[in-house]
Amino acid sequence: MKVAVPKELRPGEHRVALVPQGVKALVKAGLEVVVESGAGAASGASDDEYREAGATVAPTAAEALSGAGIVLRVNPPSLSDPDEVGAMASGTILVSFLSPLANPELVRRLASSGITAISMELVPRITRAQSMDALSSQATVAGYKAVLLAAEHLPRFLPMFTTAAGTIRPGKALVLGAGVAGLQAIATARRLGAVVEAFDVRPAVKEQVESLGAKFLETEHEVTAEGEGGYAKELSEEQHQKELELIAGAIHQADIVITTAQIPGRDAPLLVTDEMLTTMRPGSVIVDLAAESGGNCAGTKAGETVIVHGVQILGPANLPATIPVHASQMYSKNITTLLGEVVGEEGQVTLDFENDVVGPATVTHGGEVTNERVRASLQS
Ligand code: NAD
Repeated sequence: MKVAVPKELRPGEHRVALVPQGVKALVKAGLEVVVESGAGAASGASDDEYREAGATVAPTAAEALSGAGIVLRVNPPSLSDPDEVGAMASGTILVSFLSPLANPELVRRLASSGITAISMELVPRITRAQSMDALSSQATVAGYKAVLLAAEHLPRFLPMFTTAAGTIRPGKALVLGAGVAGLQAIATARRLGAVVEAFDVRPAVKEQVESLGAKFLETEHEVTAEGEGGYAKELSEEQHQKELELIAGAIHQADIVITTAQIPGRDAPLLVTDEMLTTMRPGSVIVDLAAESGGNCAGTKAGETVIVHGVQILGPANLPATIPVHASQMYSKNITTLLGEVVGEEGQVTLDFENDVVGPATVTHGGEVTNERVRASLQS
């Protein structure tokens, strides 16, 4: 079975779906790997390193994809200019981030093209699948980088300094949403010496926040919304108001704010209002990691930096691509582990939809949209 790794075409994308180490693992498992020339260049992997790892390097995407039974990507394939879906033969297994709930046209096209599409977003968040969890691996990168961006834009130090030129008090960070990205943001801000406060609507998170040396914001009102599978659900309007009061009481002291709050399948909740921005010190920095799903902060513009009431609001798009070496290494590990679920000992591929990872993560197969939630979203 031939596995193809085309070059990512999304502007600003520097990651690759499979690093040379991953090639070795797949070749050992009995698969043949073909990488498009230059696919790893932006993440530090040369064509020669892929060859040394056991891959063949094809000069074009078309040649890499020709005869491939499995295609590995980071970003969803484009529908036109170039038609990356059309470049795959019927029956091909595609493994990629696909954002299937946000990309109905892509899902329909994958189904009608006879592609078996496995969506990395739909890998269940169960203990057994942790090493295949690309949402977590890439959120780790985003949480770390968000704090570095904030520190770079902040006209102050974050750590405390005791110098002959005076003592400088440590900066304050507020992290809203303490899932995978939020916890990594807390850890990074702590490593940079900031005093950190955090809040999340899942009470289970309090202990994790505190174990990282940050303070969990407490309220006498109940502001909790634990959903299924470790995710949050939407707060009631009354609880949302209580949460806004809690945040307003803390945000005016923050030098940097990292917002990461997301609710699967919905717009991100608004956590920082325009009025709150007026209470913050000019020059303070907000990095809104939810920018691409509507933003947690009033005024956020996805992919842009704006200044509102003197506060710098960054809405970075695709932060994992800015640390491509390790983001690709982690993603590649997620993918090779996932392929372990479909590749047998002799390198033969068996799709078992009863498998508790492959079943839920498969979006399309045999001309049908197989994932129930995605199918329902297409009908609504
Ligand atoms: P996410 O990106 O969907 O959301 C980020 C965070 O925002 C979550 O912690 C959520 O509770 C929080 N949030 C939502 N609404 C909020 C609001 N109004 N105010 C404040 N915070 C709000 O989530 P994620 O980081 O991808 O994952 C969340 C959790 O899922 C993890 O922390 C973990 O507990 C669980 N998880 C489990 C596994 C596993 O067992 N394999 C893997 C990954 C994640």
